[in-house]
Amino acid sequence: MIIILKRGAEEARVQALCAELVGRGLKIHESTGSEARILGLVGDTKSINESWLLANPVVEVVRRVTEPYKKANRKFHPDDTVVEVNGVKIGGGQFAVIAGPCSVESEEQIEEVAAAVKASGAALLRGGAFKPRTSPYSFQGLRADGLELLRHARRATGLPIVTEIMNTEHLPLFEDVDMIQVGARNMQNFELLRRLGQTGKPILLKRGLSATLEELVMSAEYIMAEGNEQVILCERGIRTFETSMRNTLDISAVPMLKKMTHLPVVIDPSHAAGISWMVEPLAAAAVAAGADGLMIEVHNNPACALCDGAQSLTCEQFDALMQKIRPEAEFFGRRLSAG
Ligand code: PEP
Ligand code: MN
Repeated sequence: MIIILKRGAEEARVQALCAELVGRGLKIHESTGSEARILGLVGDTKSINESWLLANPVVEVVRRVTEPYKKANRKFHPDDTVVEVNGVKIGGGQFAVIAGPCSVESEEQIEEVAAAVKASGAALLRGGAFKPRTSPYSFQGLRADGLELLRHARRATGLPIVTEIMNTEHLPLFEDVDMIQVGARNMQNFELLRRLGQTGKPILLKRGLSATLEELVMSAEYIMAEGNEQVILCERGIRTFETSMRNTLDISAVPMLKKMTHLPVVIDPSHAAGISWMVEPLAAAAVAAGADGLMIEVHNNPACALCDGAQSLTCEQFDALMQKIRPEAEFFGRRLSAG
């Protein structure tokens, strides 16, 4: 349920109303936007009588919210949320490109890629240290050593770092990671989501391989329900009957998610395509569809990459992509965030 307050509503009366609602066991999610001040009620609102609320002189409108997601719902928060990752803004017209290798492989590799993507205009550096691989015999990542190499690369370039967590036990290792990624395979690891909700850190939440948009938003709700509103949604391709690409990029997820929620939406064309030459056209489509950012895999030597080489751009290809994306993003009214 949401309550839209009257303009200039008397503060003492608003506080009295909030106290009464809290006394009835509800949580209040307040949003003061450009258009209106809204009280979002979270909890069991069945017993709340709408005419009782409407009789209150500070109340303009009362509306029931039927969707199961509340805090992530745009009805609760009409303005776009802007997530700030160590000074880099994503959302609300700020467009950020996250780039880097699929996995951190060596000091030389991550330093070289980090310097190159920074020079081309990436705002954040990605790199997997803990890798969720389909086969237990594939490279699993450098783990804690990989995180250390990412910290080095951050020191060298100033780019905030984004890296994936796979389980709650590793949380202490992620204390100084700027944005924590939840991979597609962990989108419904609810225990992990809850714990991330208690960190207050920006979270990049990737859509599961066969998750609906509502399921994705409900996973964001798990994080937000614990008090962490710094969530970015990432569409990275879903499983369909098509076999000529790794996944099918669901470009329609962008406008639909932006209607459903106020959270920033980022597109990962690399995992969607699985083929490097498709990354640029899909990235361009993402910008046109209204995405708030991109996540792109870049490697200094894709042919020798230990993970996802086929979809990785070379540093030169990434530079060419950025030169196309920059004017396009500006054309569509977004400003590129710098790292
Ligand atoms: C990744 O970003 O490296 C990754 C493993 O992505 P996803 O979870 O989307 O497969
Ligand atoms: Mn990858």
